Amino acid sequence: MLQAVPLSPVLDMAMNGLCTVFCLRNSQVLIDCRVRQAVMEQMDRVSYCHSLFYATSAAEELAKVLIDSTGGEMARAFFISSGSEAMEAALKLTRQYHLEKQPSEPQRIHFIARQQSYHGTTLGALAVGGHVARRKIFEPILSVNSSRVSPCYMYRGSEQMFEHFPSYVRRLEAELEAEFQRVGPSNVAAFIAEPVVGAALGCVPAVSGYFDAVRRVCDKYDALLILDEVMCGAGRIGPEPTKQFPKPLHAWQDPCIGVVPDIMTMGKGLGGGYMPIAAMLANKKIIDTLYGGTGGFSHGQTYQGHPLACQAALEVQRVIREDDLVANVRKQGALLGQLLKEKLGSHPAVGNIRGRGLFWGIEFVSNKITKEPFELSEAVAMNIHELGTSAVTFCSRQMIDMQPLTSFFRYARSL
Ligand code: PMP
Repeated sequence: MLQAVPLSPVLDMAMNGLCTVFCLRNSQVLIDCRVRQAVMEQMDRVSYCHSLFYATSAAEELAKVLIDSTGGEMARAFFISSGSEAMEAALKLTRQYHLEKQPSEPQRIHFIARQQSYHGTTLGALAVGGHVARRKIFEPILSVNSSRVSPCYMYRGSEQMFEHFPSYVRRLEAELEAEFQRVGPSNVAAFIAEPVVGAALGCVPAVSGYFDAVRRVCDKYDALLILDEVMCGAGRIGPEPTKQFPKPLHAWQDPCIGVVPDIMTMGKGLGGGYMPIAAMLANKKIIDTLYGGTGGFSHGQTYQGHPLACQAALEVQRVIREDDLVANVRKQGALLGQLLKEKLGSHPAVGNIRGRGLFWGIEFVSNKITKEPFELSEAVAMNIHELGTSAVTFCSRQMIDMQPLTSFFRYARSL
C-alpha cells in the first residue's frame, strides 16, 4: 500500500508508466535488503567510471544475464538511465547499422511506428511515437522521418463484430505493406512497436499472428524490427514458457508475440525502481556489422553503464530469476484478469478489459454499444486517479510525499 503523506493510504492507478516500474516486488523487505547490500558493496568497489574507458563487473554481469535471458538471440547490451534514452540509442544504432553494412544503405532513414504508441519523451523517441497529446505542442520541432500505421487494437480496429484474428491481421499486414510502398521500401530503416502497448493505449496485447506478419514485411524489405519493451518487458506480462524459452522474461518470448526483434529496449522493471536504468540490446547481425565497420557504437552518455545502477538491476534480475517471479506474475495475472472481468465487465461504462500478466487496462466508454468514448473534458482517467479508488496496484512500503510540488515533475493536466 502506498502511503500518501499527510493523507490517507492510496491505491495507485496504473494510468501511466509509473507503476510498471515496481512490477515484481514481492517479499519486499528481503529484496530491499539484497539490493541495498549489492549497491553498497558496489559503491565500495567502483561508484563511477565511464564505460568508454573501463568495463565494470556490474555492467558486464548484467549484460550477460540479459543476453542469456534472450536465449542468445541478442548479442550485446547497452545501459543508460531511461527508456527514452534506450529508444534514442535504438534509433541511432539502426542508422549506423544501415550505414556500415555492405553494401551500405545511407538512404534508409525512415522509421515506421504505430499510432497510439509511446516510445519516450526525448525528441527522437517522441517523434517516432504516436502519443498525440504528448507530441502536440512539440510537433513543429519533431523530425519528420517517421510515419505511423494502425496499432493492433482489435476492440476498435476490427471492422465487423465477429471478425477473426487472421482477417484482422491480414488487413494490418496490407496496411504496413502499403506504408512501405508509400515511403519506398528501400528507405525504411526499421519498424518500431511495443509488443503490448502501454501508456498510449492501455495494456493492449497484439493478437496472435500479428507480429509474424510484421516480421514478414520487415524481412521482405530488409528493415530492422525494434521492439520497445520498456513498459511491458522484464516479466511484466508474465510470458508463457515455450520449449525454446522455458524461463521467459521478455514479452517477445511469449507465443502470442512469437518473433525475435533485431533490437529491443527495456526500462522500468529492469531495475525495479531502485535505480534509474534502462537497456538496449541488439542481435548478432547488427553487432557483427559494427565490428566489421567502425568497430563501435557512435553514441555515448556520461552515465551510461553506471555501475551502481547496473548492480541494482543485476540484483533485481537475480531475484526475479531465483524466486521465479515471472511464474507468479502469470498466476496472479490470471486471477487479476478474471476478477476484473467478473467485477467490472458488466459495468455500463466499461467498454473493454484487456491485458496480460500484471499489465491490465480498462477502457471506459460513455456508450457500451457504440463504444463512444467520454469527452476529454470529463477527464475520467484523471478523476479516477484523483479519487484514489483505483484498481491496479503496486505494493510498496514506501511513503511518498504528496505535499505541494515545487519541483517540475508533473504532466500538464490537459495531457
Ligand atoms: N517506451 C515505452 C513503451 C514507455 O512506456 C516509456 C515510458 N512510459 C518509454 C519508452 C520512455 O521511458 P522513460 O520514461 O523511462 O524515459
